[in-house]
Amino acid sequence: MKAVGPIPAGYETKDGQLAVGGKTARQLVERAGRTPAFVYSRDHLTNRVAALRAAMPKRLGINYAIKANPFAPVLGHMAGLVDGFDIASGGELALAIAAGLDPSKISFAGPGKRDAELEAAIRKGVTLNLESENEARRALAIGERLQFAPKLAIRVNPSFELRGSGMKMGGGAKPFGIDQDRVPDLARQILESGAEWRGLHIFTGSQALGADALIEAQANVLELADQLARDIGGPLPKLNMGGGFGIPYFNKDRPVDVASIGEALEARFADLPASLADTDLCIELGRYLVGEAGVYLTEIVDRKESYGETFLVCDGGLHHQLAASGNFGTVVRRNYPSAIATKFAEEAVEIVDIVGCLCTPLDRLADKAHLPRADVGDLVAVFCAGAYGATASPSAFLGQGPAAEILI
Ligand SMILES: *Cc1c(COP(=O)(O)O)cnc(C)c1O
Repeated sequence: MKAVGPIPAGYETKDGQLAVGGKTARQLVERAGRTPAFVYSRDHLTNRVAALRAAMPKRLGINYAIKANPFAPVLGHMAGLVDGFDIASGGELALAIAAGLDPSKISFAGPGKRDAELEAAIRKGVTLNLESENEARRALAIGERLQFAPKLAIRVNPSFELRGSGMKMGGGAKPFGIDQDRVPDLARQILESGAEWRGLHIFTGSQALGADALIEAQANVLELADQLARDIGGPLPKLNMGGGFGIPYFNKDRPVDVASIGEALEARFADLPASLADTDLCIELGRYLVGEAGVYLTEIVDRKESYGETFLVCDGGLHHQLAASGNFGTVVRRNYPSAIATKFAEEAVEIVDIVGCLCTPLDRLADKAHLPRADVGDLVAVFCAGAYGATASPSAFLGQGPAAEILI
């Protein structure tokens, strides 16, 4: 039997049902207008950012990496909470602008930026985190043509990585960033070009839970930034130190100890080298800020037996929850935290498989989960749905279409 996992804090029970913001699962579905639906909690987002700020040095800016969840009302709410935004495409730039985010607080990383994307970002005054020398040349040429000084930072491909991270984004040959040895040359060219030099971006990995690994990565980032700044021979206006804070999805996972990370960072900030003394310092987080603030609700449309196993077949599935199905960068499929939302107060009495409505064996939401008795019409909740859910899943697959999304 696989247990049903660590349900994030902040979810309530009301009238025997799962509730968010005082609304029961049934009321939330009514509000969304249909199932399946992603429900994001405003309070959860607010509290998460406040708790993180309380733990981190005052000097540290907190950016939101919008690819985790670019739902417009979420972006609008986050705009009042964070210090900046990280985008990774021209499409995200358009979403950010439409949500009213301040372009001067946006930076744009990501390989393969097309000329039209570079131009749109330069025109808006968005900082480009350059991923290659070629991209730098193209950005400078576009700036020249527009008679508009582009804001340029360099994304560094560091020689180290974030230990224990779910996705490695640095260390060795990578499509991301410019190998650290080549950064000083390019930075000097940018400084001489008349472009606005915005400093460095060093992102080392994603979905790490260990405070020690995160502390070590941050120390390595500060050391590398100091070394590069001295090689470049000029002050660093800004350093985006990356992020990588994960959230617990599975039973043995423990939440990130942000207090320890904050203390370690406070100590480093008290003793920064001269090259970083006036540098604007920030971290960028996606999943950590929004992941636990979302729950996915899907209705059971069939209950069936097969060779002794019970299947609850839902109207949702991997087309909205690719990660929960185990098909988004996971090696071994494990259950995301999940529950019967309409029987949230009841005891677990049976072992069932929860599957989606797609005609593929990959479409599984929970294997051998110990849950209360559920029938057709009940709602299943899959937690940790606030990040890499709706927009990181193939919603057009099998003609299903997107889920509803609401911010409560
Ligand atoms: C994806 C990404 C992030 C966000 O990662 P999370 O694991 O969601 O925090 C931040 N920065 C960059 C450069 C990324 O590519």
